[in-house]
Amino acid sequence: MRHKKESKTSSFRLRGVGKQIAKHLARLEIHSLEDLLFHLPARYQDRTQIQPIRTLIPGNEVVVEGVIHTVSTPSHGRTKLLCELKDDTGTLYLRFFHVFSFQADTLKPGTRLRCYSEVRLGQKGLEMVHPEFQIITPHRPIPIEHHLTPIYPATEGLSQYMLRKLTSNALAAMQNDPSLREIIPTALLQPLSFPALKDALQFVHRPPRDIPIPQLMENQTLPQKRLIFEELLAHRISLLHIKQRFQSQAGVPLLAQEKLSSQLLTQLPFQLTQAQVRVITEIRTDLLRPHPMLRLVQGDVGSGKTIIAVLAMLQAVGNNCQAAMMAPTELLAEQHYRVMKKWLEPLGLTVAFLSSQIKGRERTATLKAIRNGEAQIILGTHALFQEDVQFANLALVVVDEQHRFGVHQRALFRAKGMQADYYPHQLIMTATPIPRTLAMSFYADLDVSIIDELPPGRTPVMTSVIASSRREEVIARIQSACNEGRQVYWVCPLIEESEVLNCQAATQTTEQLQTLLPGIKIGLIHGRMRAEDKEAVMRAFQQGELHLLVATTVIEVGVDVPNASVMVIENAERLGLSQLHQLRGRVGRGEVASYCLLLYQHPLSELAKERLAVMRETTDGFQIAQRDLALRGPGEVLGTKQTGELSFRVADLIRDSEMLPQVHQAAEVILRDHVEVIEPLMERWLGEGKEYGKV
Ligand code: ADP
Ligand code: MG
Repeated sequence: MRHKKESKTSSFRLRGVGKQIAKHLARLEIHSLEDLLFHLPARYQDRTQIQPIRTLIPGNEVVVEGVIHTVSTPSHGRTKLLCELKDDTGTLYLRFFHVFSFQADTLKPGTRLRCYSEVRLGQKGLEMVHPEFQIITPHRPIPIEHHLTPIYPATEGLSQYMLRKLTSNALAAMQNDPSLREIIPTALLQPLSFPALKDALQFVHRPPRDIPIPQLMENQTLPQKRLIFEELLAHRISLLHIKQRFQSQAGVPLLAQEKLSSQLLTQLPFQLTQAQVRVITEIRTDLLRPHPMLRLVQGDVGSGKTIIAVLAMLQAVGNNCQAAMMAPTELLAEQHYRVMKKWLEPLGLTVAFLSSQIKGRERTATLKAIRNGEAQIILGTHALFQEDVQFANLALVVVDEQHRFGVHQRALFRAKGMQADYYPHQLIMTATPIPRTLAMSFYADLDVSIIDELPPGRTPVMTSVIASSRREEVIARIQSACNEGRQVYWVCPLIEESEVLNCQAATQTTEQLQTLLPGIKIGLIHGRMRAEDKEAVMRAFQQGELHLLVATTVIEVGVDVPNASVMVIENAERLGLSQLHQLRGRVGRGEVASYCLLLYQHPLSELAKERLAVMRETTDGFQIAQRDLALRGPGEVLGTKQTGELSFRVADLIRDSEMLPQVHQAAEVILRDHVEVIEPLMERWLGEGKEYGKV
């Protein structure tokens, strides 16, 4: 890959690109003519008309043309040069804070200038600060722009002027360049009436002057849609391609195990919901195959994903293989460990636990049990995939709460899971409910099962939004809930991205609450406690020895204590909707009415108000996700913003979602009938990003 890029750099032959410019371009990831053509404008300006100075309005970006009347060099202040520019209709000032000598030579009274910039209201009247300008001489008239002017993402050393010049050269060179070819088969493009690639590129770099700029900014033109289509297609194909490749590897077929699972099910105090039965059936069918399963189970908080995972793991154990389940936090992994021991040890199975906190002799013993196959079901954090962990015969990996891990890690686990000559089956579980079309795009490399039903007998959680100034009322409610034998969570939120400060805040809150609620037994749990201390506190809360549990957001995922029926969340305005939904999902698991109290600090922004209102209005995770998407965008919601895994050059999964069905259809045709275009399409649009697809 890298090697390829380098050879590209050397073959970058374009008028105007010398060594220095090539270096600057490389910083923008531009190494070839094609890269340059796919470096698309971030926005556009209309420079096609010269405005009379009298008609200028502050805030507008305009072109004016006039003659310099006076030039002054103020003796104090930051301004180095102030020109008075006049046309037939009025006067405009041009203000410069630094002036190169060649500019000082040309900015003289009598010079005719065409200037482009935003108009501001200055001390002396309307002005432009550091406008772009051109000198107009009678023998060298400069034609006015006849198309809209592109503004490119730039970098130091490369001006907009230079980028325009380079893209102009590139657009001219493109016409005769065989490397810039139409990749998508015509038969797929024609029915959508998309223009040819070269026409589309010409258009987005130099749009005709009559196209409304807002329409361009929203990517509503056909040429833009054509590029979006191609990018979405490349993305989709890469994920499907990964899936195909993974699923053609060798796996371990696991035969059905009625005995173990029915033993477990008769011992449980509940019956599976229809949705759970459907999903486990889908999983069992996958496990029978001699290729690795790659299945995502999506189900709202509390929909009962754990039992699904356990039933799948039993199928591995029944075939004399091991199964491992990985959770994103220590706390959750420990909880799974407790649940599994309770459920599975009566069946005569051996359950092990491994995290980075397990050290010394205990670790050595656990590693040995995993290596010699004595441990049949292994729970843990991502420590399960460290170098020193060797499995005897791992046949199934369950990844819980995968939204906390991200696409990249998803692929990484897959690679690390590789055993001697086969891949274990993979079951991935997530509670982030995302709209179906988005799920199909984001998780296209997986088969998806959805648990769309909650276990019966749940009463919806009543949510109130309360100013933190009314804390006393909240305390009184906690008192009465505890008097009735209920248990309460009190979540101290992120104060900063500092675990230390969060723990301090939680500790302080615990002390405060203890003085205000003298008769109540209060526990504290946070991310910096030792594993065994956390486990002890959690067990005490689970067994009802503690009434109130003060916690940082470590309890966000998965913790299950059905008798807890009040959830207080401080500074709720700082948390994302899906995080609030996850936290709230900790209550409402029993049969009594549950409450969620969202405390906020004044003043609340409009957006924050709107978001908290969503929490009050609905408990449906899918609806919340949809609203969250609309308010924050997919990168935030899926937690991929920082990693840039969902960053497209022109596409936007939400804005362009109506195009997805066509994209999916085209992708299937390509994978079936035109495999030769897969590679070039991924190369063009995903570049380095497709690396993770190699896994
Ligand atoms: P999540 O999908 O959030 O991981 P869990 O697996 O933790 O949910 O299940 C939440 C609670 O519901 C647990 O106490 C679990 O034992 C219980 N549960 C799971 N399935 C059912 C069911 N079919 N009927 C009743 N309770 C169930
Ligand atoms: Mg769970």
